Amino acid sequence: AQPILRVSALSKEFRGTRALNEFYLDVAEGEIVALIGPSGCGKSTLLRCLTWLEQPDDGFIEVAGRPFGRALMPRGVVRRQSRREIDALRPKIGLVFQQLNLWPHLTALENVVRPQTVVLGRARAEATRRADELLGRLGLADRAGRYPHALSGGQKQRVAIARALAMEPALMLFDEPTSALDPELVGEVLTVLKSLAATGMTMLVVTHEIGFAVNVADRIAFMDAGAVIEEGPAREVVANP
Ligand code: ADP
Ligand code: ADP
Repeated sequence: AQPILRVSALSKEFRGTRALNEFYLDVAEGEIVALIGPSGCGKSTLLRCLTWLEQPDDGFIEVAGRPFGRALMPRGVVRRQSRREIDALRPKIGLVFQQLNLWPHLTALENVVRPQTVVLGRARAEATRRADELLGRLGLADRAGRYPHALSGGQKQRVAIARALAMEPALMLFDEPTSALDPELVGEVLTVLKSLAATGMTMLVVTHEIGFAVNVADRIAFMDAGAVIEEGPAREVVANP
């Protein structure tokens, strides 16, 4: 399968700190890759660069075969994409944050509808139909009218996933999807990720929990000091998976 995400030699420095140091990673279509690493190794910086919230200093990102942010042209010329080109590709990358950034004053349904109408310009009826379908698929049909404060942590996480999926991304990024959850809810998120994988969704899951990575991922990449130091299927890279 062609890689849906291809990251090559991505680098980012903050006043002397090399947060990303020639980071390479490919994620194939339908694959779940867990990215594991200690605090400060550059995981958040990577996600911020992949969503172009942060501008990398160097390196390249490709999403579904298309350059994102900077493009390598013939004879080694690097072309920076315009704001418009970047904004057009952004919805292709769904991001689910650790802190659930649902809009507190909107119901679960409206949290899923709103980005479709605002960002994609979808008609409200169509956006609502998709939101209903996604909330149903994620087991939230009876929670659609609730506000975030009246949802459990796991339910909020699933609304955030539905909201990202509504944009029909080519790739989903998860930032520590379980670390803010009670242990009994980790299984719930695991189940959702596995059901997404069954639909062929491509996922990069950033975590510091090896057990979670072993349970969820096709492949694990270990990161340290801004780069991938080892990667492979869980059974090959973990002593007792
Ligand atoms: P992780 O998510 O793995 O904990 P981060 O990507 O947050 O790692 O951080 C990687 C390194 O970059 C750390 O040394 C961190 O202190 C530094 N860093 C991250 N963001 C900034 C910033 N905005 N300004 C300065 N240093 C930063
Ligand atoms: P968790 O499973 O994260 O511990 P809670 O114990 O907060 O979740 O919630 C358990 C159930 O109660 C969930 O189904 C949730 O939807 C519901 N619930 C939680 N808070 C409220 C609230 N303020 N109003 C209505 N229902 C709520």
